Amino acid sequence: MTDRILLIEDDPRLAEMVKTYLDGAGFHVTVARKGAAGLALEKREAFDAVILDLTLPDMDGLDVCRQIRARAATPILMLTRAASRSIASSDWSSAPTITWASRSSRAS
Ligand SMILES: [Mg+2]
Repeated sequence: MTDRILLIEDDPRLAEMVKTYLDGAGFHVTVARKGAAGLALEKREAFDAVILDLTLPDMDGLDVCRQIRARAATPILMLTRAASRSIASSDWSSAPTITWASRSSRAS
């Protein structure tokens, strides 16, 4: 059975790049371009992992993370350019969450 990944990312180029890579690695990737759309998908369908952008047009990615965490232990990988952003430990539960800073953030 193919692992299903929900990618919540508003940047179309980045979303396409990540989707293409993960599809090629054998995952089934569903893309949502806004936080609310991602939350709706996450409620309706079963995903093995979520890749979540912190900067979304309609809501803060951390709020999306909190809402998913309130009802599911699905692993969440945070995709962000805001490498220096301070994230309080209270924002995270014991369920797996990984922060992944993009290359552009490290260069700045
Ligand atoms: Mg974004």
